[in-house]
Amino acid sequence: LLSIRGLNKWFGAYHALRDVDLQVARGERIVVCGPSGSGKSTLIRCINRIEGFEEGSITLDGLGTAAKGRAATREVEEIRRQVGMVFQHFNLFPHMSVLENCILAPMRSLRESRATAEGRARELLARVRIADQADKYPGQLSGGQQQRVAIARALCMRPRLMLFDEPTSALDPEMVQEVLDTMVTLAEDGMTMICVTHEMGFARQVADRVVFMDQGQILEVAPPGEFFDHPRHDRSREFLGRIL
Ligand code: ATP
Ligand code: MG
Repeated sequence: LLSIRGLNKWFGAYHALRDVDLQVARGERIVVCGPSGSGKSTLIRCINRIEGFEEGSITLDGLGTAAKGRAATREVEEIRRQVGMVFQHFNLFPHMSVLENCILAPMRSLRESRATAEGRARELLARVRIADQADKYPGQLSGGQQQRVAIARALCMRPRLMLFDEPTSALDPEMVQEVLDTMVTLAEDGMTMICVTHEMGFARQVADRVVFMDQGQILEVAPPGEFFDHPRHDRSREFLGRIL
């Protein structure tokens, strides 16, 4: 589904991503971890074309084949439509109700009717177990509830790939599990997912592969059992020693 080849990115003189290669098959679940500043968010943002890049390619089922990330505007729109993204901070529109947050993009970019968009939004809000909050405003919800709305909102666009960038790291501890449970359900439904997270229980439970990044490079890719029990790299061992 997703193919990243020879990806290099610089912020000015700073080499933020170095020769990143990663192939993700449909239905696969990838957990990305690594120290702060290792380039995890930058990688996720390149996939969604929030960031450009200087070398290499990222293709999503044949979309985005132009070199150096210079995809045509229409192609970028199509990529963003097919890739759902959930951030650390929920990025909900504060002046819109939960339901309105969910139906805005489907009505605008998928040109769904209000009735269709609402039907699907209510279904997805039920799936993340907040059907009863549809008419509230984000500010009236807990952090965990807001993050579940953000997940439902992304799913309303019928994405083929979901990207998560530390979706639980801004939450109070008692709310982390409800968001992780939602992500587990999504994984069980077969969604292709790339999750930046340091929730290693989640990684063990759902990841097909764990990607370890350090200083802009992918240093290790392994199934979770292997990665946690027998990390191959000194830097992976050191990292795991710090977070486990
Ligand atoms: P964290 O775990 O703290 O979220 P990360 O692995 O997500 O870290 P990135 O946010 O991808 O790391 O940042 C990678 C490096 O690129 C960091 O050194 C960061 O300072 C730098 N960087 C990120 N965004 C920019 C930017 N817009 N301009 C300049 N440098 C940037
Ligand atoms: Mg980050």
